[in-house]
Amino acid sequence: MTQVPRPNSAAARDVRSQLHPYTNPLALEQDGPVIVTRGDGAWVEDEAGARYIEGLAGLWCTALGFSAEERLARVAYDQMRMLAFYHPFGQKAHLPGIDLAEALLAMAPVPMSKVLFSGSGSEANDTALKLIRFYNNALGRPEKKKVISRIKAYHGVTLATASLTGLPNNHRDFDLPMPGILHTSCPHHYRFALEGESPEAFATRCADDLEALIQAEGPETIAAFFAEPVMGAGGVIVPPPTYFEKIQAVLKRHDILFVVDEVICGFGRTGNVWGSQTFGLEPDMLTCAKQLSSGYMPLSALMMTEKVYQVIRDNAGRIGILGHGYTYGGHPVSCAVAREVLRLYEERDLFAHAATVGPVMQKRLRTLADHPLVGEVRGVGLVAGVEIVRDKASRQPFDPAQGVGLAIGRNLHRHGVITRVIGDTVAFSPPLIITEEEIDAMVSRVARALDDTL
Ligand code: PLP
Repeated sequence: MTQVPRPNSAAARDVRSQLHPYTNPLALEQDGPVIVTRGDGAWVEDEAGARYIEGLAGLWCTALGFSAEERLARVAYDQMRMLAFYHPFGQKAHLPGIDLAEALLAMAPVPMSKVLFSGSGSEANDTALKLIRFYNNALGRPEKKKVISRIKAYHGVTLATASLTGLPNNHRDFDLPMPGILHTSCPHHYRFALEGESPEAFATRCADDLEALIQAEGPETIAAFFAEPVMGAGGVIVPPPTYFEKIQAVLKRHDILFVVDEVICGFGRTGNVWGSQTFGLEPDMLTCAKQLSSGYMPLSALMMTEKVYQVIRDNAGRIGILGHGYTYGGHPVSCAVAREVLRLYEERDLFAHAATVGPVMQKRLRTLADHPLVGEVRGVGLVAGVEIVRDKASRQPFDPAQGVGLAIGRNLHRHGVITRVIGDTVAFSPPLIITEEEIDAMVSRVARALDDTL
């Protein structure tokens, strides 16, 4: 979003050399990228020295913000010097992996038995999908393989996890979803409830839809249900209060594994350590990433209960090995840094801070609810969404061709706020270190950006 890039500028070199993820390549060629050069606290700075409040913690990940953290740099340096690479394949292990696995098990929202590390949220969810197949084959029920996620879910971008993702852009022209991955209704009351339908009645209808889908497919064919506690990239969708209670009852009735994707919600985002605690979830498997390392290093983890582990253990033992693992899964430098990140969270009481400033952000953002462009403000803890509508009364969204989302993005940028407009929703998920003053600054800038879009 700079001027047309000068030929040898970093922006021009970027346009010549990189295909950007989640970017319109034509817009990139026309406007060039914003080159972010440094950060401190909840702020980042671009090449030209302009400062922005990072309203999305990068990609929902930098809980500690963007400052130099000497302790993390030191831990990474020391680990690189001691043992830059090792892996847990074939009865090997390394100490940072053991330390981090123990720490995760100790803080899990329900008793968990084992941790399997990988490098990204997509890999963790892909691993869960594979282990679910392995689990049901081990139990002698090869027909129980289908997996259900939700419309507007986001679980990653590999072929299988992009299939779980319930967003048209991730399917269209990629020939997805893959067979055997099904989508049920999305618990977005503002958008999908019937006229006058209470949140309670809507939650019941969502659970009934799930039950109906399971019955239509045959309960003996459904292996697992994936859900984010708060749906993030689908538009920050907070489910109605009794939604998950009703959903979990359906899953239990049909012996369907519940995989909770805590990639965004884990580590303090929703006001508790885990989204599972905020919403009373009892996962059989839990995936996490992003704030696990505060984005300082790539890392993700899959945790599983003893019930799941025992079946996988017996089957893998019978076959000889568990035929799955990534070269960089649980990289020792990533694990060492993540372990130190968890210490910093604890020493700084960061989850308690997030639980205190979260309601402040929710309250301040709700002051935007009367704005003519705003249909709904929703969220919990330090994650929120402001849904943009063309008409408040009918809740009608803008036609994407009108480019209102793009215009809001540009205006936010001009006013010094970085975030993402996903679909019709402006998403907020700032670093957990954000202060009340910074929240005020962010919200008043957002208000000005919306005014400029009118
Ligand atoms: N799950 C959720 C809930 C996410 O928000 C994301 C990424 O935003 C992923 C999974 C995929 O993680 P990654 O981009 O690290 O593969």
